[in-house]
Amino acid sequence: MRVINFSAGPSSIPIDVLNKAKDELLSYQNLGFSIMEISHRSEIFEKILNSAKKKIKTLYNLGDEFEILFLQGGASLQFAQVPLNLADENVAEYVDSGVWTQKAIKEAQILGINYKVIASSEDKNYSYIPNFKFSDNASYCYICSNNTIYGTQYKNYPSTKAPLVIDASSDLFSKEIDFSNIGLFFGGIQKNGGPSGLCVVIIKKELANRVKNSIPTLLRYKTQIDNNSMSNTPNTFAIYLLDLMLSWIEKNGGLKEIDDKNVKKAKILYECIDDLSSFYQGIAQKEFRSLMNVSFKIFDQNLESIFVQEAFDNNMIGLKGHRIIGGLRASIYNAISLLDVEKLVDFMYKFYKKYK
Ligand code: PMP
Repeated sequence: MRVINFSAGPSSIPIDVLNKAKDELLSYQNLGFSIMEISHRSEIFEKILNSAKKKIKTLYNLGDEFEILFLQGGASLQFAQVPLNLADENVAEYVDSGVWTQKAIKEAQILGINYKVIASSEDKNYSYIPNFKFSDNASYCYICSNNTIYGTQYKNYPSTKAPLVIDASSDLFSKEIDFSNIGLFFGGIQKNGGPSGLCVVIIKKELANRVKNSIPTLLRYKTQIDNNSMSNTPNTFAIYLLDLMLSWIEKNGGLKEIDDKNVKKAKILYECIDDLSSFYQGIAQKEFRSLMNVSFKIFDQNLESIFVQEAFDNNMIGLKGHRIIGGLRASIYNAISLLDVEKLVDFMYKFYKKYK
């Protein structure tokens, strides 16, 4: 039996995707080998990689000025790879909205690039997205679109003249995006797009030309653009699973439909928290609430571990909040259905009645 998995990542993968992978695990398309066992240079694998790229291009409506890369090192390596490749003589501007941007800022500092943190929501424990305006002549402008730990999310992206860089790890493939303003967009796929171990980078190709000769070969976006993400051996199995996941998104109506579903899921969960506001408390300020990670507390904190245990007894896992802020968190990524969230809401009402 499968549980309802509200983990923040790695997280739930749709059963249809897992079943397809299971069916093909020993013999991909009846060829007598697993996709894990063949060369990344084979025609069979290259077809899968190109199919995943094509699907991403279509889903996000991307023009030829963009390249899609499949990289290793997680989203975390991008914290360094972005400044290594994109920093120029101008100031790179960062908005601090929590742990994941702090980590990115730290890498900029280690690398000694010219950077500035132009706004932060640290004063209120990152419960909101700060107000700011990027400079037109910044070298690049850096934000994290969805803050997985606190459950805050940008509702709109800032308009910038300089290239906008977005860590979209926890809302990648969850909604339609207007890329006209975006220079580089990245995310680990382990939340909405499959297993861990693969980072999707969507980069405006011209930005890769900023690279300096001092950058190690494999850390240059240009290297991976020129080699179709196969300068070294990529994570072939994760790319295969991503391709299956993208087919699942297409089958489910594309990103617009997925977004509509995600909005509905988040709505009923936040409504429950607000309805029982003498008992539960949302962590993010209302206007910045994430559709992906619903972080909340119980006023009587002693009840939180009981909540996690009783949820487990009711076949639901992954509800403990991040260790940095505590509390509870339900991550309701693409693979979580409306019915799954309804079951959680039902549980939350019952829990309230039992312990209020
Ligand atoms: N950015 C965000 C917003 C994240 O949520 C995470 C992981 N939870 C990361 C970056 C780091 O991803 P990875 O572990 O793949 O390096």
